[in-house]
Amino acid sequence: MGGICFGAKREEAGIGCSCEIVYRMDQTARWIIFSSPRTVRSRLEAMGFASVFIALVIERGFTGLRLSKRLTNKEWAGIKRHAIRAIKECEQLYIESFCVREGERIVSSYRSWYECHDPGNEFWPPPPKIWTLDAIKDSLIEILRPNFHHLQGVDDYPEPPDITIDTLAPRFENIVNNHSISSRAELLGLVPVESRLSSVQETLELARTLFISSRFEPARYPCFAFANHWRWDERGSVIISDIIILAGHDPNVMTFAQLLEENIWVECLTCAQGNVLQAPEAVGHFHRHHPHLECVEWRILEGQELETTRAPNAEKRWSCLLCGYWKTCTEDLILEHIASQHPFARPDLQYCYMSVHGELPRKPMAHATGVSTANS
Ligand SMILES: [Zn+2]
Ligand SMILES: [Zn+2]
Repeated sequence: MGGICFGAKREEAGIGCSCEIVYRMDQTARWIIFSSPRTVRSRLEAMGFASVFIALVIERGFTGLRLSKRLTNKEWAGIKRHAIRAIKECEQLYIESFCVREGERIVSSYRSWYECHDPGNEFWPPPPKIWTLDAIKDSLIEILRPNFHHLQGVDDYPEPPDITIDTLAPRFENIVNNHSISSRAELLGLVPVESRLSSVQETLELARTLFISSRFEPARYPCFAFANHWRWDERGSVIISDIIILAGHDPNVMTFAQLLEENIWVECLTCAQGNVLQAPEAVGHFHRHHPHLECVEWRILEGQELETTRAPNAEKRWSCLLCGYWKTCTEDLILEHIASQHPFARPDLQYCYMSVHGELPRKPMAHATGVSTANS
């Protein structure tokens, strides 16, 4: 016994024809108002929101919500935006809690993928930092959203099926490559035109390509997803160029990897106590101790003096890119850590970097053969 829309009848009642209230004739042939299903709940259901979130916003309430009253189009128009905002907040809370709960599983899923792929020259975030990419969360939401309808009772935070994480994995490559492309473009955009070489890669690999954060931390490969307040480190770039020239090399050619390889040490002649530093550390030293000086004098250590300085300072802080472990001092120890803690990691790739000098991308191991060395 379906209801019938009688526009004229409604106009008579001063409601206008909106098909909101349906009239039907009762047994005594009188017109009675038939309660239409146009409630807040059915409106939101019709918009595709999941019932768990609808139940939650109705329970919590929102501006204009009047459950006892049937809704006309006009009334709905008045509260619609409040309802939508409330339900989106609800969804967002669920997504946030999902991300917190599933964070470790997502990191470990990404780690498994990362361990057996060679990033070459790409700027892929190491596993512990995968969450810094907005695209990961966006992708997760896209996967989660169709599953909202299967959720039962949001208060208990039901486990979504494992498929959610499994579905994310095939997207890793695209996500991290896109991140890499945009990070490089962003970095290059910060480098003054006169300091660029012919390719992005060459420019970024130069030892004198330096950036600085708002906290005056110099870096070569700043992680844009992590802190996007990087700018070109003009003075740092001049300092490292001066040191490279003093040491007899060409700053327009020398890469950061070569600079580390050369293991150049300098003494800051501006400091009364004669501070001795490894070349990449000189930039940080300048920013911390002489930020107001126009120029700082350096002396390159040579011969016996260099040998005696290098030896006790040979140990550097290495980090494991796969898990963030860093409490070791030599590359050998970190490689042992990788072998024991990450048995599935591709054996021909190093998964570590010297964290003191910023991100030096992992590279194929020196003794490996038949492996791409594009990033070394
Ligand atoms: Zn100094
Ligand atoms: Zn590790």
